[in-house]
Formats: sequence, structure tokens, C-alpha cells
Amino acid sequence: MISDYHMHSEFSTDSDTPMELMAERAIALGMKRICFTDHMDMEFPGGGFQLDTPLYMAKVRRLKKTYEGRLDILFGVELGMQSHLVRMQEEYVAMYPFDFVIGSMHLLHGQDPYDRKIFEGRTDAEVYEEYFLETLENVKRFSGFQTLGHLDYVVRYGVHQAEEYSYSRYADIIDEILKILVQRGCGLELNTGGIKYGLGFPNPHPDILRRFRELGGEIVTVGADAHRPEHVGYAFEQVREYLKNAGFAYVAEFQGRKPEFIKI
Ligand SMILES: [Zn+2]
Ligand SMILES: [Zn+2]
Repeated sequence: MISDYHMHSEFSTDSDTPMELMAERAIALGMKRICFTDHMDMEFPGGGFQLDTPLYMAKVRRLKKTYEGRLDILFGVELGMQSHLVRMQEEYVAMYPFDFVIGSMHLLHGQDPYDRKIFEGRTDAEVYEEYFLETLENVKRFSGFQTLGHLDYVVRYGVHQAEEYSYSRYADIIDEILKILVQRGCGLELNTGGIKYGLGFPNPHPDILRRFRELGGEIVTVGADAHRPEHVGYAFEQVREYLKNAGFAYVAEFQGRKPEFIKI
């Protein structure tokens, strides 16, 4: 079973699941390893998603001991990127001994696409373009992450979701993002949350995964973005197919921010 490298727990504003339940579910599924990646989004509107990192770290360490020999538990974070916060982001990732940092974009110019206000009076396609441009800006300025989380996340919340969306429509911007990742030896995340949200594909779209490989990308991490135990490893039975079709024979698992390659 592929290890789940993107999951949330009681330490994230949008989850109240005790870590133990996520771990137990992973064991039941036959996973050998998981990485918790609770949310840290600095300057989130309304003040949510501020991770109590010392407390979180202490609990991950405690659990690592508790589950030793049954499940390897790693210490990660999903860091929300905003281009004006680069210095704070750099300080933050340097401050804690994370095994794995996912760089994600949850806000577009300070607005949360989740509440859909950002789509009012505009086409989905316009918002998507702006989202990709801002992702490019974030990736140019900030390199303190191991994998770029759910690259086309914004499409989950579009009024018509993927109707106005394709890789080719934004190929010039997306290629620039992918080239930076490849140059840096940075990973791209395959996030099965997109399937859960009814997109019919994971994030990013399989065309983007294939393009990443074409451009020389080698590091793909896999996560279900579960906030509840029943979503741990969600749709992982489809992951091999997506990866193989894109030209990947390995997934990457990080420890101490270094990749290990696992044959699929
Ligand atoms: Zn996310
Ligand atoms: Zn997440």
C-alpha cells in the first residue's frame, strides 16, 4: 500500500479527528508509513489555520513511539504560501525539524476560493489563470517545500469546476511552474482529493503529471488530503495507473526532507 503523505488531524482548523484514528485507519489499510501534514496558513482571513507547531510536534513524536514497529509516523506540514510572506515562511520551515513540507496555495490575493466569492462576476477560467500566475509567483520566490501541493486546487471550487479547465489552456504558465520544480529537484504532489471532490481526476490533472515527467520531473508524492479516517488512502487503488500512464515507476517518500524512491 502506497504511504499517505498528506493528511490532517485535530491540529488543523478544518479537522477534529484525533491523530490516533488516522494512524489506526492507515494500519487497517496495510500502510507501513504515513506523514501528518497539518495546516499552517499564516495570515489566513478570520485567523484560522494557525498551527500550534510545538504542541503538534510533541504529539507526532509521542505517536511515533507508540506505533513503533506497526506504523512509521512522520512529521510534516502543509504550508499555505502567499507571495508577500516568503520571509516568514522561510523562517518557519527552518524553525522545526520537519520531515516533509508541502507548499500549497489556499488563498488567492488573500481570498479563500472555498467560499466562492472570488468567482462572483468572473469566469472560472479567469480565476484559474490568476491562480496559476500566483502559484508561479510563489514558486519563484519560495523554495522551502519538498512538494507542490494540489497544483490545480482552485478548480475544485470553480462554479463549473473543470468545464472551463484544461492543462493546454494554461500550458505556458503551468510549464513555467513545472520547470522550476524540475530545476530545483522539487516534487509534485498527486492529491486524490480532486477525485473526492467530484472532479473526476486527482489534483493536478493527469495531463500535468505527464508534462512534469516530460520536462524531467522525477519526484511525485502521493496524498489523499484526508481530514477524517475514512478518507485516508482515498482512491489510492487508482494511483498506480495515473502514475504509470504519466511515465512514473516510483513514488517519493520523504524523511528528514530527503526523498526515498519506492517502486510502484
Ligand atoms: Zn491543501
Ligand atoms: Zn491538505
